[in-house]
Amino acid sequence: MKRRDLIKSGSLAVLGMAATACAPRSAAVVTTPARRPMLVLPRIHASWDRVIRTTVGFRPHRPGGFVLRADKLGSKLLIHNYGHGGSGMSLSWGTAQMAADLALQQNERTVAVIGGGVVGLTTARELQRRGFGVTIYAAALPPEVTSNWSLAGFTPTSGLISGNVRTPEWTAQFQQAVDIAYRRLQLLVGPKYGITWITNYAPTDDDKMAGGSNALLPTHIQGARELLQPGEHPFPTRFAIQRPEMRIEPSIYLEALLEDVKIFGASIIVRKFEKAEEIAALPQPVIVNCTGLGAKTLFGDDQLVPLKGQLTVLVPQPEIEYSTSGGARVQSAEPGLGIHMMPRRDGIILGGTSERDVWTPEVNEKERQRIVNGHIDLYNAMKGPMGPMPRRT
Ligand SMILES: Cc1cc2nc3c(=O)[nH]c(=O)nc-3n(C[C@H](O)[C@H](O)[C@H](O)COP(=O)(O)OP(=O)(O)OC[C@H]3O[C@@H](n4cnc5c(N)ncnc54)[C@H](O)[C@@H]3O)c2cc1C
Repeated sequence: MKRRDLIKSGSLAVLGMAATACAPRSAAVVTTPARRPMLVLPRIHASWDRVIRTTVGFRPHRPGGFVLRADKLGSKLLIHNYGHGGSGMSLSWGTAQMAADLALQQNERTVAVIGGGVVGLTTARELQRRGFGVTIYAAALPPEVTSNWSLAGFTPTSGLISGNVRTPEWTAQFQQAVDIAYRRLQLLVGPKYGITWITNYAPTDDDKMAGGSNALLPTHIQGARELLQPGEHPFPTRFAIQRPEMRIEPSIYLEALLEDVKIFGASIIVRKFEKAEEIAALPQPVIVNCTGLGAKTLFGDDQLVPLKGQLTVLVPQPEIEYSTSGGARVQSAEPGLGIHMMPRRDGIILGGTSERDVWTPEVNEKERQRIVNGHIDLYNAMKGPMGPMPRRT
């Protein structure tokens, strides 16, 4: 791959905006001589023989954004909390708290939560905090849920909306949700929940994008960004944008959430519902629908569409404490998609695919090649004490 391809790095991805409609506001950035010594980062050993698995997941995307509202299902109060796109790991505490508040309008304090992914589990905890006795019904539980196939950084706008169809009411809901979720996740930082802060680098040649920001997000949530000048960073680009990023390790996080809801008395029933009438027949007077993509057939939401996403995982490298966004943009299925790397205990996670309305669970080999080869090229081209890595074949 040519250097030109490498340097078209995905600054959109810096803000997790791939496949969203949130256009960045940009400002010109002036190149200045290096002021600081070159940053030395341990290198990712990216090569095909270090690939240990590839997973496929389906982000529950709605062009208009998640659904969070109270409704009726026969005589029951039905609260919808679904459709979080590529942002569910980031936003779930926010919409969970707001959904649980909606449930307070009903006097009785027993509730059925449908869904055992991150949205269902966090909603169950928020309901327990408000004194509800909770029964979770789910066709599948972690690790067999989309939430476990997430990258999962704090990317509250990724794959969340598309086009310009969001309403002012939805935007207000989103901003409340992101504020709550951002604070809540910070309180869970530590080994128990598998949440940590790391540093993200976005290699880029685009000085205008380097000054960009996400119009949907309050500035305090965007993180302190710093533009590293040529000579200050090891990436094969003129600039690298450095910012703090929250990392969630899904397998640790979801197990801990599951444990928490059980400790606080939840019953868990593994059951798949074929239609809404079956849910209406449940004994609980309040139902919270956290079924993600499942809401499409259960509640007839035609807007719901999967954004198929793949993650290819390399052998773990415990010394890696930084993530990268961008680095190559070759042969992407959708224009504007970048590549992302997140180091976790269960491996070095490589992502950056999003295929709209694709339901096939098989790995897309062309996309897998783009993601893995893009990272091999990026890390091979990094300057550093280890010298160049072997070329890919
Ligand atoms: C490749 C990839 C990368 C991602 N990266 C990020 C990221 O970096 N940051 C981020 O915030 N998010 C990310 N996401 C998105 C995130 O994973 C989703 O937004 C989140 O998992 C949605 O959670 P959920 O609980 O709604 O859905 P799920 O985890 O799918 O849970 C849905 C639950 O409902 C149950 N259910 C569904 N239908 C029925 C039915 N008919 N009857 C009974 N139960 C039913 C399921 O069994 C399951 O328990 C990523 C996703 C993918 C695929």
